[in-house]
Amino acid sequence: MSIVAIVGRPNVGKSTFFNRLIQRREAITDAVSGVTRDRHYGKTDWNGREFSVIDTGGYVIGSDDVFEAEIDKQVELAIDEADAVIFMVDAEDGITSMDEDVAKILRKVTKPIFLVVNKVDNVQRIQDAYEFYNLGLGDYFNISSINGSGTGELLDAIVEKLPEKEEIEEEELPRFAVVGRPNAGKSSFINALIGEDRYIVTDIAGTTRDSIDTKYNRFGFEFNLVDTAGIRRKKKVKEDLEFYSVMRSVRAIEHCDVCLLVLDATRGFDGQVQNIFWLAERNRKGIVILVNKWDLVEKETNTMRDFEAQIRREMEPFTDVPIVFMSVLNKQRIYKAIETAVEVYKNRSKKIKTSKLNEVMLPIIENRPPPSTKGKYVKIKFVTQLPTPQPQFAFFCNLPQYVREPYKRYLENQLREHFDFTGVPVSVYMRKK
Ligand code: GDP
Ligand code: GDP
Repeated sequence: MSIVAIVGRPNVGKSTFFNRLIQRREAITDAVSGVTRDRHYGKTDWNGREFSVIDTGGYVIGSDDVFEAEIDKQVELAIDEADAVIFMVDAEDGITSMDEDVAKILRKVTKPIFLVVNKVDNVQRIQDAYEFYNLGLGDYFNISSINGSGTGELLDAIVEKLPEKEEIEEEELPRFAVVGRPNAGKSSFINALIGEDRYIVTDIAGTTRDSIDTKYNRFGFEFNLVDTAGIRRKKKVKEDLEFYSVMRSVRAIEHCDVCLLVLDATRGFDGQVQNIFWLAERNRKGIVILVNKWDLVEKETNTMRDFEAQIRREMEPFTDVPIVFMSVLNKQRIYKAIETAVEVYKNRSKKIKTSKLNEVMLPIIENRPPPSTKGKYVKIKFVTQLPTPQPQFAFFCNLPQYVREPYKRYLENQLREHFDFTGVPVSVYMRKK
């Protein structure tokens, strides 16, 4: 999927525009998972084309000075990782020196750049906006993120410039992405996996510039490793930037079936690891947590159990995820990691017959029907799995709008209990029948 990055100095209206773009989409995903994280990263679609939007500015906290120091890196990052860049400026303020700095970088870029003048809320501002020709980026789009004017034309233009839909891979090999924070041990893990060259079967050029799929045949499993560009790319951007590893992960996650989320046991399941975790969950990808460097942890009787319990608390409500403790250094449980990823892959592509589903689920529902609301009783008549790449279930009933989140979660948990969807986000929809 294509990525569009929004860059610009603080207060020009990036978040306002971003929120407008992803709103509709958020409404859908929130209804399912009840989770809103990574609000600077979202999906949207326009005229049937889906793409991801990243508000890079959202990651910079601090004064203008701080921003000024970061802006080069930020823009460079957007250029590296995105398929198109929206450069947002502010009609109210006119051109500032920071705008000029950004324009200077963008003028050298061959990717589609969209200069967007925001806060054009009235006719006077249309006049004011002319000065932005001076940025040397050619034509621009006048929009008002607050009232939405001009955003349609902008989106038309963006969608037109995005790369064509990626072809669907013909072979159905699992696609694994190794993601995580810098220094977690991702490269070591990949090196340990590929070990000797003979395990590499072929290099398939990725469908996008940044992602290279490499086919492996290891431990009796065949899989594609979705490599993040960042793993091999020289470190242009300082590694400790919060958004950098998130953006790198975005690409890898979108191209995979299962994320192998590597974390450093000495650092734990911290905020940034959680960001990546929720990113994968939001994208409905399979997930395996690999707690690496287990050799460095001093162990007492319950160390592993406690460690695991702590991670699961942070993962709520999506806790049905395998956690493998490994040491890449000692080549410990690397096989287990891959084996688990293969299982998650199978769970994700599992298709359950409608007859079987109803046979199992209807008695469960009968036993504990949805609680009545305002004297209305919901009658669920029929369940079916939707023909999507990841598990989604539609429950047909008379009054879908009366089924609340806790009951949907109950249904999800029952599905998990009876059919095993470990490591896989499961979507439950109520439909009118
Ligand atoms: P960011 O720092 O670039 O993400 O900017 P925000 O989205 O937080 O917006 C900064 C301020 O500009 C907020 O007070 C917004 O309400 C305001 N703003 C955003 N878009 C518009 C717009 O189209 N017109 C006007 N008048 N104000 C806007
Ligand atoms: P990446 O940035 O996630 O690709 O991390 P690297 O693979 O470069 O590893 C970062 C550091 O952690 C390197 O010094 C590795 O040797 C070390 N490392 C990786 N795996 C392990 C492990 O299982 N145990 C220990 N003790 N060190 C490890």
